[in-house]
Amino acid sequence: MRYAAPTGAPGGDEPLRLLTVHAHPDDESSKGSATVARYVDEGVRAVLVCCTGGEEGDILNPAADRPGVRERLAEVRRAELDRAAAIIGYHEVLWLGYRDSGYPEAPDATGAPPEPVELPADSFGGAPLSEATERLVAILRAQRPHVVIIYPDDQQGYRHPDHLRVHDVGLAAYEAAGDPQAFPAAGTPWRPPKLYYSLWSKARMLAIHEAFGELGLQSPYEQWWFERPWQDHRITTRIEVAKWYDRRCDALLAHETQVDPDSPFWFGLPREVAAEAYPWEDYILAGSDVATELPEDDLFAGLRGPGG
Ligand SMILES: [Zn+2]
Repeated sequence: MRYAAPTGAPGGDEPLRLLTVHAHPDDESSKGSATVARYVDEGVRAVLVCCTGGEEGDILNPAADRPGVRERLAEVRRAELDRAAAIIGYHEVLWLGYRDSGYPEAPDATGAPPEPVELPADSFGGAPLSEATERLVAILRAQRPHVVIIYPDDQQGYRHPDHLRVHDVGLAAYEAAGDPQAFPAAGTPWRPPKLYYSLWSKARMLAIHEAFGELGLQSPYEQWWFERPWQDHRITTRIEVAKWYDRRCDALLAHETQVDPDSPFWFGLPREVAAEAYPWEDYILAGSDVATELPEDDLFAGLRGPGG
């Protein structure tokens, strides 16, 4: 559906603007951070919306499990996010203001969906959809991004309720932001011209797995990983990010409580090998009001003025 709200290609010297929506502190570093670092370096304004404080997370790095850390995990994770966002280059970090819903049941190795449970009303997963949508609509209208990145509609591989909500709230807010009839108290309508879903591809995992083999190292990926539901056939857009891989690694390491520097998943390969083994980050174009040709190699394809 199209609305008469202001939208379309930026004119004159107006900078291009990118807005990403993530569930917890650390998701912004593990998903698409090299893409954001690249665009920031190229002059794009980047804003991060983090939906929850990540209060329910565990401490996943034994070295960070010091006295007092667990007790003030929300505060610690907020500071970690500030450091990571600065490394990536985000111009602004905004909080949607919800509590982490927690994972109702430890995910098993297959990533099978956990049993549904009732989530607290102040958690992202338990809050009314319309309330969370209005908060994000207000941010979209104030920030006026040209490209918005959320999580995919299909997240069978990892069904954390907050990650599912990033999709549901993100899509609802994208659709409502340009509609003057929707949430009239949330600011002047703005229709983001493009919407993307970020994606972990099987192609990436395979490339990394093979790189371990070539170096004679033990790959952390076992057989069941390859049998998970993958969505590579939906990829429309690949962003070349090898040069920004260091920023991604450093941003991950800023999440000291969440990321073990000895994790073979994150850091088992030398950085330069991992960066070249799969030099892209992958996206699905989920909505566009501008003409663009698929496959794309630029999130802003169709939005750049002449010479841009
Ligand atoms: Zn998360």
